Amino acid sequence: MYLIRFMPSNSAFAFASSLLRREVLELHAYHVPDSSGCIKLDAMENPYPLPLELRTEIAATVASAAINRYPDPVATTLKKKICDVTGLQAGMEVLLGNGSDELIQLLAMAVNKPGATLMGVEPSFVMYRMIATFTGMRYVGVPLRKDFSLDLPATLAAIEREKPALIFMAYPNNPTGNLFPSDDMIKIIEAANGLVVVDEAYYAFARDSFIPYLTRYSNLLVMRTFSKLGMAGLRLGFLAGSALWLGQLEKLRLPYNVGVLPQLVAEKLLDHHDVLLRQAEQIKQDRVNLYRLMSDMSGVHVYASEANFLLFKVAGASEIFAGLKQRGVLIKSFVGGHPMLKDCLRVTVGSHEENEKFIAALRETII
Ligand code: PMP
Repeated sequence: MYLIRFMPSNSAFAFASSLLRREVLELHAYHVPDSSGCIKLDAMENPYPLPLELRTEIAATVASAAINRYPDPVATTLKKKICDVTGLQAGMEVLLGNGSDELIQLLAMAVNKPGATLMGVEPSFVMYRMIATFTGMRYVGVPLRKDFSLDLPATLAAIEREKPALIFMAYPNNPTGNLFPSDDMIKIIEAANGLVVVDEAYYAFARDSFIPYLTRYSNLLVMRTFSKLGMAGLRLGFLAGSALWLGQLEKLRLPYNVGVLPQLVAEKLLDHHDVLLRQAEQIKQDRVNLYRLMSDMSGVHVYASEANFLLFKVAGASEIFAGLKQRGVLIKSFVGGHPMLKDCLRVTVGSHEENEKFIAALRETII
């Protein structure tokens, strides 16, 4: 550190480059755009505040929290509540992560033998590829079809050919929003000779889940996050599966990865899980409405979604994204990203008022 600070910048860079792994030098950091002053429809957050009564309860819990102490290292109370609200079968356990991103990394580290492969479909959640890269795993991405449906024959062929140690399937998929057919998912789990992680980040908005299959397939884990349900700020995700897997993975979890406050607040929120599920229900209804309004716009192609966002294709996506931003609406642009997402933008379903503002801004921008 001392050396770098006092070197002229060119030689400091050369020094850093000589130390850092090539994969790290070539990576681009996960980019989070500045959203100040904007309606934030870029990150699949729940737009609703909690009822005042619940916020008051949380304030009291936080006021008496022992933040001078390390958190419960095994988060017994929180884990029990998660098992209950998730309806986990007897014998199944959970492993907590500081967001599910942390769990993706932990899984990659666990299976990363020399030459081990992490497989996903493309386009999907970018962190699968990013984490494979920075943990030094081989990454294989199997392209979805042009309409973003699953190419089952190609996926099964890739499993046979590449023998991935770890497969991530987002169910529903991000950023495309669709839920792959459950029969196809089962074929993938049955064909895999490694671990299959069904990433149910958007479970609250979808009509299906792989939790019931955990007892049937010993190579299956289900990953969820509470980020989309209204707790993005807490950073809490979990892996559900058998004690056999989770006991091994637990060894890689950094001690105290979920703080005192996230544990306490999440426990309180899970006591009121119904409040969050009602908000998710509202978001699902609004998604239908937003889908209809956007489909009616000429030049806009919206993809059906089982998540709390809609992916759409529109000519001049870059200008439309900028026009929306100028009107105070921030969504997600895939311009310059995955080639299959050319001209694609993604909007999170917000509150009624936010959705109306988005639609009005989109109409003005498209004209
Ligand atoms: N999986 C998927 C499919 C996601 O879309 C996201 C967030 N965008 C995550 C995992 C990570 O969520 P978090 O780290 O907030 O738990």
